[in-house]
Amino acid sequence: MLQQTGVKIVTPYFEKFIAKWPDIKSLAKASENEILKYWQGLGYYSRGRNLLKTAKIIDIDYNGIVPNDLDDLLSLPGIGEYASAAIRSIAFDKKATVIDGNVKRVIARFFALSGRLKDNEKDISALAKYLTPNKGNANYSQAIMEFGALICKPRQSNCSDCIISHGCLSLKQGLVLEIPEAKIQINKKNLRCASFLAVDKNNSVLITKRKNENLLKDMWQLPSSEWINQDNNKMLVSEAPFKGKWTEKGKKTNYKFSHINLLNETYILNVSPKINLCDKSFKWVSIKSLHKYPLVTLTKKILIDNNLI
Ligand code: SF4
Repeated sequence: MLQQTGVKIVTPYFEKFIAKWPDIKSLAKASENEILKYWQGLGYYSRGRNLLKTAKIIDIDYNGIVPNDLDDLLSLPGIGEYASAAIRSIAFDKKATVIDGNVKRVIARFFALSGRLKDNEKDISALAKYLTPNKGNANYSQAIMEFGALICKPRQSNCSDCIISHGCLSLKQGLVLEIPEAKIQINKKNLRCASFLAVDKNNSVLITKRKNENLLKDMWQLPSSEWINQDNNKMLVSEAPFKGKWTEKGKKTNYKFSHINLLNETYILNVSPKINLCDKSFKWVSIKSLHKYPLVTLTKKILIDNNLI
């Protein structure tokens, strides 16, 4: 969960997850739908899918015990260089070098490596390996990552509280604010879409399972149009899942994603009786039962904004 996501956001997800599946054996019996439900809102859903695949493999091939051999770990879905080093050092106290964004920043600053972190990958990796202790690596790995998160922070480093400040070359050379150099800003795409909220008299809504082979595969959402550029004037209501007097509800809402600003227009239709669609990926679900379905964030926000959940 902590790959790509911060501790603050992850904590409540982790607590619920670990209460539901306290060990590998119980996790291995979960369905992908359940995992996605518990992952809902955390993003990067392939992490959840891979975790389930890995739990099943460990359950069968390793009798439910996480292996500590590097090659065994690297053969598991979703476990790469960072996760294998974190598992080997933190869980097994092996000599393995953990390099996350925090570690990279601490090393770049301490050794005054100017430029972007990306440009110094080789040097950072060599220095990180050099610094990894032979003993007590479980504590060291966690300590250096925490040190980066709490003291040598991305924007405001607490140099006055820093216990290694006497050796820090960036501090000596007055370069703390310049290192690391900022990443090149990505220009976000401005897109628009329409979402279709069909509600029947028994308070059921029409949702659909995503089919495309991308990160949100198998998640559920309101029927929606394609996402098009905001300067395209196409009438998106024409992409409703069935014909009817769809009415635009309220103002258009802007939703911000990491690479996209999405302007959504929501169309509502009250139907009686329910219209059954030939496409079996569509399903009417009572609002009370919606919590059983892993919903994409945009759909969840629209349902909240319309006081439906
Ligand atoms: S002195 Fe400041 S910049 Fe240097 S390692 Fe400590 S917190 Fe980071």
